[in-house]
Amino acid sequence: MRPDIDQPRLAVLSFDIEEWFHVIDHPEVADVGQWPLLPSRIERSADTILELLDRHNQQATMFCLGWVADHHPGIIRRLSDAGHEIGCHSYDHRMVHRLNRLEFREDLHRALDTIEQVIGRRVTCYRAPGFSITAAVPWVFEELLRAGIGVDCSLFPGTHAHGGIPHGIPTAPCVIRSGHGELRALPMSTRSIAGLDVATAGGGFFRLLPLTVLQRWLQSQPYSMVYLHPRDLDAEAPIPPGLSPWRRFRTQVGRRSTAQKLDRLLAEVRFFTVKGALQQVDWGTVPVIDWRSSA
Ligand SMILES: [Zn+2]
Repeated sequence: MRPDIDQPRLAVLSFDIEEWFHVIDHPEVADVGQWPLLPSRIERSADTILELLDRHNQQATMFCLGWVADHHPGIIRRLSDAGHEIGCHSYDHRMVHRLNRLEFREDLHRALDTIEQVIGRRVTCYRAPGFSITAAVPWVFEELLRAGIGVDCSLFPGTHAHGGIPHGIPTAPCVIRSGHGELRALPMSTRSIAGLDVATAGGGFFRLLPLTVLQRWLQSQPYSMVYLHPRDLDAEAPIPPGLSPWRRFRTQVGRRSTAQKLDRLLAEVRFFTVKGALQQVDWGTVPVIDWRSSA
């Protein structure tokens, strides 16, 4: 996709459905056995998301953790019953590039089995925790295809704290060619600002950036991928203990205003689910990324 002036804009809306304690790579909240003992905020913050989307008659793709589907199946069912697309966000939020191929396969199948059992439908799109698909996992798309996943929304074109791919990935829809066939990919929309690779409409950047900047970017970019978490809209959600001051700031900033910002954008922008976006793209003209594993 080129930023042609007459090209229709494509704005995808997605949420990663996880708890406040599902922060990446933080030892204080890494023990899965302790998670059921921590206070849950997911039902309350997912309600906020459901109400906002319902108010504006918009739909989104919800990348769900298998763990959440196991422990709070009702909320996943409600998201699905409200017409939102359900995707997979792994079982227990481990970074992909820290897993070997077999561990990844087991995690993926456990997550898919759990989520599909809850919603009664197949899941065909995936987002890795923390954008942790990197060149270190050449087998990852083969595994996704073998599990029935045809669309990936994990790629972060640029440098990211827990992953990202600095070169060779467009900030636009593309095709990934793996050793087991091709997937369609909707990467994050990013841009480089003063040497920092910024997600133009997601997570901490969405919370940090003024509404006017988000509006301008969403209205001018040919392609945008909005991604948020329930905790991004929950000012009362606890902050995991032991975070560095910088990470604490990044985790907390803008939580009080995020729901209002999203409310405004939902009134102004027509968003697509991942499934809806696939129909808007001319797949014969997008870049093809070679990601073949020699394994
Ligand atoms: Zn996540």
